[in-house]
Amino acid sequence: MTKHKTWQLWRDEKLTDEEAKLLRMKAADLPVPFDAAAKKDIQTLVEAFLKRDDALGLAAPQIGLSKRIIAFKVKDFDKKGVSGKDSWEVLVNARITQMRGEPEVMNEGCLSCPDISVEVTRATEIKVKALDRNGNKVNRRYTGFLARIVQHEIDHLEGRLVVDHEGTISFPKEKKEFFDKIFK
Ligand SMILES: [Zn+2]
Repeated sequence: MTKHKTWQLWRDEKLTDEEAKLLRMKAADLPVPFDAAAKKDIQTLVEAFLKRDDALGLAAPQIGLSKRIIAFKVKDFDKKGVSGKDSWEVLVNARITQMRGEPEVMNEGCLSCPDISVEVTRATEIKVKALDRNGNKVNRRYTGFLARIVQHEIDHLEGRLVVDHEGTISFPKEKKEFFDKIFK
């Protein structure tokens, strides 16, 4: 098992009980100030995130680390046609302190729930309290699609996945038998 494998609820039409157990756990806070192990965990998550160009975000439980660390791309997603700089951000011990705006429904996928997408309702504006990768306290406000990404990643820290939301689940026809069985 490689360190950078993405942990999933199922793989090749088989449930992955051990991985699912960790993905469903509430992740632990990192100690403040960060000790050597915490710094290493942050570095591991960042490396795993940067290796995947298909991920808008990645949470530590998705690489088998039950710690409150998330990384995600930051750009002005809502301005179509504007080629913003493709930068990214890391948040440690992140918690949402405020949710505002008219909730919005959108289809979401997740590397830990392969082959499906789920209609997820989320707030369009959030405020988040966290630490940056150097351990400095930060307060952030995210809106629009970026607010969605951050809520998705923080969900992972609570052991909550897209399939735990109420919305309709979509999957390819050829996998109907498998998914009908697990979502019944
Ligand atoms: Zn996810």
